[in-house]
Amino acid sequence: MNKLFTSDDIKNKLITILDREFNETPATAPDKIFYKACAMILQEVLSEKRKKFASEKTSHGQKRVYYLCMEFLMGRSLKNNIYNLELVDEFKTALASFGVKLENLYECEPDAGLGNGGLGRLAACYLDGMATQEYLATGHSILYEYGIFKQRIIDGWQTELPDNWLPGGDVWLAERLDRAVDVHFGGEIQEFWDHNYHHINHVGYSSVKAVPYDMYVSGYRTKGVSRLRLWKAVSPGIDMEMFNKGDYVRALGQNSYAEAISKVLYPNDNHLEGKNLRLRQQYFLVAASIGDIVHSHLMTYGTLENLSEKVAIHINDTHPVLAIPELMRILLDDCGYSWDKAWAIVTRTFAYTNHTVMNEALERWNEDLFKLLLPRIYQIVVEINNRFTRDLFERWHKSVDQINRLSIIYNHEVRMANLAVWACHSVNGVSKLHSDILKDDLFHEFYEIEPKKFKNVTNGIAARRWLYQSNPGLTNLISELIGDSFIKHMSKLEKLKKYADDESVLQRFAQIKRENKENFAHYLKEHTGVVLNPDSIFDVQVKRLHEYKRQHLNALHILSLYQKLKQNPGTPFTPRTFIFGAKAAPGYYMAKQIIRFICDLGRHIDNDPDVRGRIKVVYLEDYNVTMSEMLAPASEISEQISLAGTEASGTGNMKLMLAGAVTLGTYDGANVEIYDSVGDENFIRFGMSTEQVRELKPHYNPRELYNKNPEIKGLIDTLYKGFDGNTFEEIATSLATSDPYMVLADFEAYKQAQIKAEQLYSDTLGWQRMSLINVANAGMFSADRSVDDYARDIWGLV
Ligand SMILES: *Cc1c(COP(=O)(O)O)cnc(C)c1O
Repeated sequence: MNKLFTSDDIKNKLITILDREFNETPATAPDKIFYKACAMILQEVLSEKRKKFASEKTSHGQKRVYYLCMEFLMGRSLKNNIYNLELVDEFKTALASFGVKLENLYECEPDAGLGNGGLGRLAACYLDGMATQEYLATGHSILYEYGIFKQRIIDGWQTELPDNWLPGGDVWLAERLDRAVDVHFGGEIQEFWDHNYHHINHVGYSSVKAVPYDMYVSGYRTKGVSRLRLWKAVSPGIDMEMFNKGDYVRALGQNSYAEAISKVLYPNDNHLEGKNLRLRQQYFLVAASIGDIVHSHLMTYGTLENLSEKVAIHINDTHPVLAIPELMRILLDDCGYSWDKAWAIVTRTFAYTNHTVMNEALERWNEDLFKLLLPRIYQIVVEINNRFTRDLFERWHKSVDQINRLSIIYNHEVRMANLAVWACHSVNGVSKLHSDILKDDLFHEFYEIEPKKFKNVTNGIAARRWLYQSNPGLTNLISELIGDSFIKHMSKLEKLKKYADDESVLQRFAQIKRENKENFAHYLKEHTGVVLNPDSIFDVQVKRLHEYKRQHLNALHILSLYQKLKQNPGTPFTPRTFIFGAKAAPGYYMAKQIIRFICDLGRHIDNDPDVRGRIKVVYLEDYNVTMSEMLAPASEISEQISLAGTEASGTGNMKLMLAGAVTLGTYDGANVEIYDSVGDENFIRFGMSTEQVRELKPHYNPRELYNKNPEIKGLIDTLYKGFDGNTFEEIATSLATSDPYMVLADFEAYKQAQIKAEQLYSDTLGWQRMSLINVANAGMFSADRSVDDYARDIWGLV
């Protein structure tokens, strides 16, 4: 393997950059400056490497992939790029000669938190996978000035602080002013005919300039480099006409109105807000991206005739679905294509991934708002819908009711998912179960019309980030046993299976987990003062806070354990540390109540000498990608306890599995595939199946459980009464009266699963065997495999 640099090259580059960019010398520069200098070296190298990679691929006529997504939860880049370029030792040596530690530089980098949770992290993982698998890929998103808020917990209550990440994060971004695109909002459409030609004139609009900033993600042992193009909204300049007319204040006010578009990420996960600014953000992203894609295609090929052969555009969830009418607009209005020709190009180019079946997350825009903000796009969507509903009637003989259900515009709303499903050549879910639910349920009537469109690609994670880069102990052991080719080809982890009954290997698994737990405990003590007992079981539930994910089921069980231990102090019990980490959407009141309940319960238990040392509840503040990388290696039980049929896939489940944690979970999302791959004896499964949920739902009555089951009654009553002067009435009332995610229905099964977990854990070697089997089967959940599936089954790249 040819190294890009020797340590001497890096040393010289550092000296040059420190002087040129920062007016510093190695002797005096602080770590923060060294971090930036290292980032600049990599930034430049990756930009060159990408250029070479792209021109080579393009000269062979290679199809490009554009991945459109409102979120990319990138986390940190320095470590990822140094590892993927295999320059760890070179950087370490170069820095050591200046008395600087590479590990300390990692800590200088802020997380690029341009996403909420799983959806945004998935997009980031795919950039990594696509680079490694050498697909010519570009992600498109928004350069939010403020990413996902920083979470502080004050007396159990979540408060949000702005995430001003650009100081420190901007070293990875290269401005491309030459590729700026104008985006138009509002105004009116004038139509006229001349020489039998239909002309569209968009007048009176306001302009926003979209300026791209590029960031690169290196692949591992390849030529591949992915590009992430982030659009910043900039005022097109002062409107001189308005200015001259004396409307001084409004002319300058346009500035901040335009620039508000890329100011902040909406902090909702799996929930739509329906705000004007959010719709502006969505159109801003797609208009800039499609404009850029078309421009670039025309530069290479001079025509859009072959667009769908050379370009695949992926729409991640419905957020970027306006890309469809936007490309129609360009083909019709700017290029003069007929409707049918334009439609043929568009439908062959776009593919859509659905990420949720939950009603409150399905995007529907108010028709008046849509029309006012995007008058031409509105006209095009109306025409798409007219033709679609005519087809439904004439070609498929659908009833009026059916047509109303499938319609893109209905009841004064524009339904983004229906537009996506109708217009895209491919629709996929993100796990087998979820993809089946799309066909059987959410999009069943679409499925009946066009069954071939529906596909599955099970999610995957950037496995190198969560194993090779963040779990060196385990990585070294695996390399010693089966060689290091698994780092590139994760399916090779299967070779570990032959050590499943090798006691000495299992002992080393145990020892590594122990060290990882100690490391995490040490980190937590240093940063928060919280003391963890590494002899206890580390039981982890980290993910966004949402009722469907059922953190309150976990918490309710802890409350029940606590009460039991209090009543019978002699009960044998393996000490357990329950670790939570989750941000709640700032406006999600119930989620914030659940956080408060977990924190107050943890404090109450800490203050009770009867159980101290046996149960500990820790709520980690500001759970993010970097925290996930630190915590996963130390985790032993992976809580994946969503109500069956609600979690589309989950990817946190995969990260923890890869670190050897055993899943305690429902038969939901990708848990199903994890269960099927490791087998029943290596997974602690509990709870209702999707079918059982579907069956029970219509006549589910939590009040009955409350009345019938004394333990449940006792727990709910405790929530009402509270402790230490705090009550939890909102949670109690919700559970006892509606319990929308059927926490009480699954409670007993969950309790039994927890008992089973404790029993299994008491057999140390047996537990380590489960752990090893989980790691050995985690290869199929690598993003490298997922992007290969997309490339083959959806994008037509291979
Ligand atoms: C992986 C990840 C998620 C997704 O977790 P799920 O358990 O799949 O919901 C959310 N947030 C962060 C920071 C992650 O790294």
